[in-house]
Order: sequence, then C-alpha cells, then structure tokens
Amino acid sequence: MGRDCLFCKIAAGEIPCQKVFEDEWVVAFKDIEPQAPHHILLIPRRHIPTTLDLAASDQALLGRLFQTANQLARQLGFADEGFRIVNNCNDFGGQVIGHLHFHLLAGRRMGWPPG
Ligand code: AMP
Ligand code: ZN
Repeated sequence: MGRDCLFCKIAAGEIPCQKVFEDEWVVAFKDIEPQAPHHILLIPRRHIPTTLDLAASDQALLGRLFQTANQLARQLGFADEGFRIVNNCNDFGGQVIGHLHFHLLAGRRMGWPPG
C-alpha cells in the first residue's frame, strides 16, 4: 500500500466510498465531486502512482480496468449514448491523487478540446 494514499485506503475499505464494482484487481466507486451525471473512478487495488509506472506485466490489469468500464457503461445504460474515459497524469495532466485512476464520465455531451 502506498503510505498515506487515499485510494489505497479506499481500496482496503478503510475510507468509505460509494462502490459500484470490485474484484480482486479493480475497484470502481463514485467520484465525490462529480463532473457529470455519471462520474465513476476506476482504480487498481495495487498502488501504482501514474500511467508511467505501468509495466509490461500490467497488461492484464489494464484490460480489466477497461473491461470494467465497459461493463459499467452497459449496466448503467450509457454505453450506446457514449461516455468518456480520462486519465490525468502528473502536474500538467491535472493529476491530484497519486494512485492510478481512470475517470468514467457520462450522462451529458462532453466538450472538446478538454479544459
Ligand atoms: P485527479 O485530478 O485525476 O487526480 O482526480 C482525483 C479525483 O478524485 C477527483 O475527481 C476528486 O473529486 C476525486 N476524489 C477525491 N477524494 C475522493 C474520495 N474520498 N472519494 C471519491 N472521490 C474522490
Ligand atoms: Zn495508492
């Protein structure tokens, strides 16, 4: 576990969250400050700081994260309408929490370019 890492604590159940999915590798929960009608965060249970820290051996994990996003999009009914998956990496990317996470955003039309 990353020392004092908020998302490690959420994954371990030490800090409450509105969980929508979990398995051995992945936890998905509602963002505390939603930027869209649906705003879910998908994280690996294991502490990985950023996408830059993904190793070749994390291929399966990455697949699972995206499969979970697809599954939630279908279950929650916004797959056909569309959605956005976002990863913020490091300072200029806008990353605030140093535990790899993907934002799954849906329920409204997304703008482009992003802010
Ligand atoms: P990022 O800027 O990509 O690091 O995103 C971090 C996200 O975590 C933000 O969208 C926050 O609203 C969200 N967040 C922070 N604390 C919590 C929490 N305790 N439970 C759920 N989401 C959180
Ligand atoms: Zn962590």
